[in-house]
Amino acid sequence: MRILVTGGAGFIGSAVTRLLAQQRGATVLVVDKLTYAGDRRSIRDCEGKHGFQFLEADICDLPRMRAAMAEFRPDAVMHLAAESHVDRSITGAADFIQTNIHGTFCMLEAARAYHASLDGAAKATFRFHHISTDEVFGSLGPTGAFSETTAYDPRSPYSASKASSDHLVRAWHETYGLPVLVTNCSNNYGPYHFPEKLIPLVILNALEGRDLPVYGDGSNIRDWLHVEDHARALVTVVERGRVGETYCIGGRAERRNLAVVETICDVLDQRRPAVRPRRELIRFVTDRPGHDQRYAIDCSKIERELGWRQQESFESGIAGTIDWYLANDWWWRPLREGKYTGERLGLLPAK
Ligand code: NAD
Repeated sequence: MRILVTGGAGFIGSAVTRLLAQQRGATVLVVDKLTYAGDRRSIRDCEGKHGFQFLEADICDLPRMRAAMAEFRPDAVMHLAAESHVDRSITGAADFIQTNIHGTFCMLEAARAYHASLDGAAKATFRFHHISTDEVFGSLGPTGAFSETTAYDPRSPYSASKASSDHLVRAWHETYGLPVLVTNCSNNYGPYHFPEKLIPLVILNALEGRDLPVYGDGSNIRDWLHVEDHARALVTVVERGRVGETYCIGGRAERRNLAVVETICDVLDQRRPAVRPRRELIRFVTDRPGHDQRYAIDCSKIERELGWRQQESFESGIAGTIDWYLANDWWWRPLREGKYTGERLGLLPAK
């Protein structure tokens, strides 16, 4: 398989790239702009594997995307490049509109031209896989779960931009016959997660004895999935998913944010005992505007139709993630430099 992965230097894209290049023997071309969230060190072990290639480019550069596809001749495009951090979308939505909407339009147009140039088996088997989020569905009350038939109700600039991109992808399928697949996944955690997101932020702040910011009263609920389980689901969908279909992916692991933070504190207290229990570092901070209360995913369709199952429970996955951060400070220390500890996000007073 020859797979073009956009955003392959990011958190989930790098997990997909490592899986494809190191375990599945695929030839991967990563297309990534290397924004603050992209890091080639996350895929350094893929260099030299099965003709692995890296193209530093902006997905909004349509002529370059056309040329990249014509030259690389992928069997599939897995489109993960995006601006992904909700807090940043609230303080500066422009990059989200540009990359997530216009960038997806450019990828679709490039894929449409490339697909039209194919014939025979290559045309029949080509796939454009768009990777999206459960946040497009809005916020849930205490019960129920999102599924493939849930109506869209995005509430943040990030989720609205991702919802727009999902609609564009479906329109290119219906209007132009582009063979698309769409997946909507719940919150991911795991290795190589940029240290501005909740779980790595809390692991690293707790390790360094810094305050642990928790929005509101910490009662917001997310459904957590290990990034390597997500990567396996994505490769399953690109290999065997039905054209034009959407698959929801989740971890069946709903946790309150406060419970997630407390779990991290407890595991770290076991791994690296501190003078005082790390739970004492928890600080409740002003809630995020429009903060969605609860997300949950019904992932029975991908389990039933494609046989995917998650392999990692939340408890073992979070412990393994903490161990990864403890063993890999070469990766996160240069990214921290005091910039991603909460002060920079305006959550905590600068120390
Ligand atoms: P990330 O922010 O870690 O990585 C995004 C990558 O895209 C980075 O490598 C960045 O350099 C690259 N990029 C950004 N703008 C670009 C542009 N204009 N051109 C080329 N490359 C560009 O994001 P992530 O958490 O890995 O998320 C990947 C995808 O999965 C996103 O589409 C996101 O919406 C979706 N998703 C994320 C989660 C989650 O929990 N993180 C859950 C469900 C879906």
